[in-house]
Amino acid sequence: MEKIRVGVVGATGMVGQNYVRLLGSHPWFRVTHVSASPRSSGRTYAEAVAGRWVMDEPIPTTVANLVVADAQDVQAAAGACDFVFSALGMAKPAVRQLEEACAGAGLPVISNNSAHRMTDDVPMLIPEVNPDHTSIIPFQQERRGWEGGFIAVKPNCSLQSYLPPIYALMQSGYEVESIIVTTLQAVSGAGHPGVSSMDVIDNVVPFIPGEEEKTEQEPLKILGSLQEGRIVPSPSPTVSAHCTRVPVIDGHTACVSLTFAGQIPSLDQIRTAWRGFLGAPQELRLPTAPRPPLVYREEPDRPQPRKDRNTASGMAISVGRLRPCPVMDIRFVALSHNTVRGAAGGAILSAELLRAQGFLGR
Ligand code: NAP
Repeated sequence: MEKIRVGVVGATGMVGQNYVRLLGSHPWFRVTHVSASPRSSGRTYAEAVAGRWVMDEPIPTTVANLVVADAQDVQAAAGACDFVFSALGMAKPAVRQLEEACAGAGLPVISNNSAHRMTDDVPMLIPEVNPDHTSIIPFQQERRGWEGGFIAVKPNCSLQSYLPPIYALMQSGYEVESIIVTTLQAVSGAGHPGVSSMDVIDNVVPFIPGEEEKTEQEPLKILGSLQEGRIVPSPSPTVSAHCTRVPVIDGHTACVSLTFAGQIPSLDQIRTAWRGFLGAPQELRLPTAPRPPLVYREEPDRPQPRKDRNTASGMAISVGRLRPCPVMDIRFVALSHNTVRGAAGGAILSAELLRAQGFLGR
């Protein structure tokens, strides 16, 4: 199969670098276009990220010499690639405008930014949870008069660790009523250079602007239903979130307590549901789908960011510490790699799903 040409908009940032790294050896996609702000444009990619390339591996040779375009030059993107990943660190209205301009120019956009997450005809995908939400795309295109182009987004990185294990329980027939989650979020989640070292070393910062709202609202859209060409959020479960920034480089941890609405499963039944969980990416055998997507750790002190974030190349979610909760019904700890599963890797998996469903590369 001839590889599909991909652009990375915002390619020089933390998430953009992860795209460049992960797509360097992708079997379906190849990077043919990179763009960023006027601070970077006009230089080769290697020159633009000199001194701030934070990946462990070297820059893929196929990208190092690409000249970085200005992200505002939508026609350049439309001429150089078949779809784009958007990893822009800009104000929401500007991101919305640019992503819509790309879609209007015929380019499918898969975005990490929150600008379009709550737009009711834009699918917000965790491919194991709501792969059917992509069927909203023709309605989105028709409403806006877009031919070929569309926008799909991935959710906030904070909820990728804990929502799939909860969804696995729902899929096994256990209705979840309410959730209290405390996230311990890595510094890479704030981009580069991100949080100041003086603020975060030897410290825990108990506030990340906007994060608790996203952590509470986005799951309801992901669990929502499609009605008349729009996604209607699910009325439950209720989520209460505390989001904190901790001095960890990569890997968001979530400590979860929850109540069930009906039957309370035993701990064995919960572990069985997690171990048996498979989603569309596994069934479709997508190239970067982790098998299994949820890894249950029996050790009493796991999951841990340093030891578990790279499970299945950063694409699997590690779960552990399942135990009864004296206040709610059960509690557990979940962890995922925020810039891989929670950002670039999760979006690449979404693109693979869209390709398998016929939305990309036609
Ligand atoms: P970042 O490291 O700050 O990178 C921002 C990128 O946007 C850079 O490529 C930058 O280009 C570009 N940019 C900034 N201002 C621009 C402008 N005016 N015009 C064109 N390009 C501009 O941020 P990040 O962490 O990669 O995050 C990118 C997006 O992903 C954000 O919306 C963030 O909320 C979201 N996200 C991040 C994570 C994570 O774990 N980091 C997870 C999920 C979602 P220059 O290098 O030229 O300035």
